[in-house]
Amino acid sequence: MTELELHGSRIVIGAGLLDLCGDHIRAALPARRIAIISDDIVSPIYAARVAATCAPSPVTLLTIPAGEASKTRAQWSRLTDDLLTAGFGRDSAIIALGGGVVGDLAGFVAATYMRGIPFVQMPTSLLAMIDASIGGKTGVDTNAGKNLVGAFHHPALVLVDPRALSTLPLAHIRNGLAEAIKHGVIASAAEFEWISSNLGGLLRADGPDAALAERLVRTNIAIKADVVARDERESGVRKTLNFGHTVGHAVESLSGFGMLHGECVAIGMIVEARIAARLGIADAALAGTIEKLVRAASLPCAVPASMSAADVIEITRSDKKARAGTVEYALPSALGMMAGADRGYAIPVSDSVVADAIGDTRASL
Ligand code: NAD
Repeated sequence: MTELELHGSRIVIGAGLLDLCGDHIRAALPARRIAIISDDIVSPIYAARVAATCAPSPVTLLTIPAGEASKTRAQWSRLTDDLLTAGFGRDSAIIALGGGVVGDLAGFVAATYMRGIPFVQMPTSLLAMIDASIGGKTGVDTNAGKNLVGAFHHPALVLVDPRALSTLPLAHIRNGLAEAIKHGVIASAAEFEWISSNLGGLLRADGPDAALAERLVRTNIAIKADVVARDERESGVRKTLNFGHTVGHAVESLSGFGMLHGECVAIGMIVEARIAARLGIADAALAGTIEKLVRAASLPCAVPASMSAADVIEITRSDKKARAGTVEYALPSALGMMAGADRGYAIPVSDSVVADAIGDTRASL
């Protein structure tokens, strides 16, 4: 069992926690009435086990349809209405049991219900374990874009059982692995090398090797928690976590959210490393090193031919990171190192450089 502390949240990581979480929940949230919010894929696998560990406290289970389409104000409205109808008061708490969609949505319910009640993150996807559940960002999507309505609300407790990854589809292991590769690029060359060396065991068709999965989860939670601890509200070093995400979000949006977030971040990392090379910030070999690992993980490496560079650039302009018309990027200078500490890790990049870098990735196919 590993324990970390982040902005008042206790993060506990351990194999088997899903069946042993009651004591942690009772200690963090004494005498609270509990609602578990989950989705209709995760709930049948894990909700009864988690509810059983909370006994004798009664637990109410609220379920949403699985997938990004549920991260909406409509679901927020339904969930808060369900809690009101069931008479949940300020003495209540929420357990978010699922992937990042459940974590963001249930966290936003907790942030806003009765002006804020405590909640527990129990992430079950790799992406949620190493990224979405750490750092206190909650929210929902709108027609104008992803995550545009939300709040910072730190969970009282984050309980991570890497064994849950045994039931996660391989495509979603890859999805989360893209964020782990990103952590390697931005903060730890050693982690990047470790992932490269252990890819086979992490991407097994019958689920990741348990010991490797646990090691991956522990290290990547520590990396993300360390960055967030240094910059809770994203005014400086937390921006480094956006590496790969400026182009990645644009690709995700142009795909109509048909591509997985991690797939888009994988493409974004390669394009943005090529931007760094074109600006003379990083050696050109860095993009090749990232591309080699991304390719080995069977993640995509180039902006799809159906998306024009102009369309990608247009969307990056409406991204939250665009300031006064120039889009700012978080760019690496080397493996494990980010450029621009003196500029808040926000480097303005002209459209023509972005277009050329997108072209570079296509040329390398
Ligand atoms: P997701 O929640 O849709 O989960 C992916 C799929 O895996 C779903 O179908 C889910 O039902 C299923 N699943 C999850 N755990 C499972 C398990 N153990 N066994 C079997 N199936 C399982 O998506 P995600 O990739 O986990 O998260 C993506 C979301 O996270 C996006 O909405 C993104 O915006 C958000 N996010 C938030 C932050 C943050 O800081 N708050 C950071 C990164 C991403």
